[in-house]
This record gives sequence, C-alpha cells and structure tokens, in this order.
Amino acid sequence: FVRPDIAALEAYTPIQPFDVLSEQLGIPIEQIIKLDANENPYGPAPSVTEALRNCPFYAIYPDPDQTRLRRAISPFIGQPIERILCGNGSDEIIDLLMRVLVQPNDVVIACPPTFGMYSFNTGVVGGRFVAVPRDTNFDVDIEALADAVLEHQAKMVFLPSPNNPTGNLLAREHVLRLLKLPTMLVLDEAYAEFSSGSVADLVGQHPNLVVLRTFSKWAGLAGLRLGYGLIPEWLITHLWKIKQPYNTNVAAEVAVLQSLAETEALNARAKIMVAERERLFAALQTIDGLTPFPSQANFILCRVERGDAAQLKADLAKRGILLRYYRNPELANCIRVSIGLPEHHDALLAALADLGYR
Ligand code: PMP
Repeated sequence: FVRPDIAALEAYTPIQPFDVLSEQLGIPIEQIIKLDANENPYGPAPSVTEALRNCPFYAIYPDPDQTRLRRAISPFIGQPIERILCGNGSDEIIDLLMRVLVQPNDVVIACPPTFGMYSFNTGVVGGRFVAVPRDTNFDVDIEALADAVLEHQAKMVFLPSPNNPTGNLLAREHVLRLLKLPTMLVLDEAYAEFSSGSVADLVGQHPNLVVLRTFSKWAGLAGLRLGYGLIPEWLITHLWKIKQPYNTNVAAEVAVLQSLAETEALNARAKIMVAERERLFAALQTIDGLTPFPSQANFILCRVERGDAAQLKADLAKRGILLRYYRNPELANCIRVSIGLPEHHDALLAALADLGYR
C-alpha cells in the first residue's frame, strides 16, 4: 500500500543520539565534548531556564497564529509580522514550502556539498532533485546554477548562507543576480548570526525570495525546535493553510520570547564563538596533515590530507570528542568541527597532537 516513491526513498540519517553514543563509548555524557551538530556550547540564555520553569501554561494548546512570537521576532529581524511564519525548527518551513510549491517531477536545485534536507524533502514530495556542484573553494557556481534553473525550469533553489558544512557566505550581489531568475530562491540563514551578512531585508522587495532563520544555533534552543521563514505575502498565505495548527509548542514560545529579551547577551556570546572560530581556524592551519576551510558559521570544515578522516573521527570519539565525518565524494576525507567552548578546542588540539596531527 505504500507509495512506490516513498518505498524507494532512503531514510534521512542524522547523527546518532548523544546518550547512545555515550553508552557505546563508555564515557559519561558530562565528559563528552560534543562538536558534531553545530549546537550552541553555551546552551540557552540563563534566564530562559527560569522562564521555562515559571510558565503556567503547559496544559494549554499553543496559539496557532503565533501572534506573540511573530510580534517579538518582527523588530528583531526587521520584517512585518505578515511575512513571518514559525515552524517546528526551520526544517518544518522547508517541508511546508516544498509541499506548497513542488508537484511530482518538478525540479528542485541545491548546490552540494550542502545541507541534506533539501534533497531529502524533494524526494518526499515526489520532486526531482538536481545538484549543481560547488567549485573547488565550495563557492556556488552562479552561472552554472543560472543555466540549470533555466534548463530544468526549476521550481525552487535552496542555498544556505553560510553553507553547511562548508561555511561559505553567498555574496549579496550574487543573491541579487539569482533573484532575476524565474524560480523561488530560498536562502537558508540558519547560521547568519555568526556571519558578516544577511539578506533578510530583501524579503518583500522580491516576490521570489524566502529567507529561513532559526533559534537552534544563535539562541541555543536546538532541542526546543523553533525556526521561522520570512516569506512574501502571496506565498505565506498558502503555508498558513496547510500547517498543523499547533506546530510550535508553548515551551519553545516561552524560550524564544525570553531569548529575544536577551538579544544583547546572545549576540555577545555569538561574538565570542566567532573569535573562537578564528582561533581554532588559525591553530588547525598550522597542523601538518589538516586543511581547514574558512568559515562564516559556527563550524569549520577540515580536509584530512594525511591519514583517514573516518579513523580520525573514531580515534577522537574514543577520547570523548565528537566530530562530524562525511562519506560524500565531494567531501572526501573531510571532518566538520562545531565551535565549542575555548576549553573544548584546547582538548581537541591536544588530542590531535596526541594522534600525530601537530
Ligand atoms: N538549515 C541548515 C543549513 C542547517 O544546517 C540546519 C541545522 N542542521 C537547519 C536548517 C535546521 O535547523 P532547525 O534546527 O531550525 O530545524
């Protein structure tokens, strides 16, 4: 009875749960240095925990219109509430956009190596995924992308900026060039708060631009699941029609409202993480056998030039340091290190030296 296209789909496999890994490794959770999923090492802002503890409304359904949330996000992001829709993570907004826009066999384009959910979600709605590979520096090949959009009459193009897992930011002039194409352009700015640029202000000026943001990284709320889309009015209406009424939960709302009240503190932490990223990058650059790629996000992609990246990942895991390792051919022998606390990086560099990377 299962739809043949769903039966043929490969399951999306995110990283293994933290507690399972900790048990497998025989290392207590509190000793594990988790640099594998681009989470915020500081966690939520301190006052968020207290706000969550004090909220009396967990027995009540959340507001399907997300009014308080959207009112609080609006001045933060500089867009009117009419263009804001919150989701159970920005992942949900990706799914809603696909379900509204993509019919079977419509083409969706992304530029690998990139975030895996775009091709995965394209498969779920029966669309056809077309890859336009990045160049050797992992920058988008703008002309090849433009050609592919025209050739396939692509419905949508998904570009994270900064890109996960490579860290490249898409130049504003390139975004403006792509906006002239007859396709929906989705700029996924999950890591924008660690970068030097955003195009959130362009939403509403171009009918074919959507920007995605999240509280998972900057606000340290990955486990509470709250992301949002900045979506032009003609399109957002249709997402409202099909979203689950209670897609965003009360705890996430409490945490986001409190996080936005702590914007300055969260920005200060992001600044520290950026400084740590630069320190780690410089240190990795001096290590024989490793080549880090410059990043504008809260992670660094690193090519292992000497030895096997899978082995390195396993050896570090045995020492309680978790990294992401990729099997895709475009990322041959690469690892990705999420930005942690300064002491996490010190431990990583010491473990690398111990393994012969010095
Ligand atoms: N977009 C990109 C580029 C990401 O890397 C991630 C997180 N891995 C997401 C979206 C999903 O974010 P959220 O937690 O808001 O669903």
